[in-house]
Amino acid sequence: MTGAARLYGVGRAPQPGLTVACPHCRASVGNACTIPANGRRLANPHPSRIDAATGAAA
Ligand SMILES: [Zn+2]
Repeated sequence: MTGAARLYGVGRAPQPGLTVACPHCRASVGNACTIPANGRRLANPHPSRIDAATGAAA
């Protein structure tokens, strides 16, 4: 029961980008990025959102 399951970060925010709104697709805090054209959710946040979340871009 211990070990592998932790890799999936159960109970934790798996994507650092989710701590801020996305400047690219306007996804709100805590929501996954989407493709504006069709509304599909992305597996990973947009790079610009990650930059915003980590403070890499001012
Ligand atoms: Zn986005």
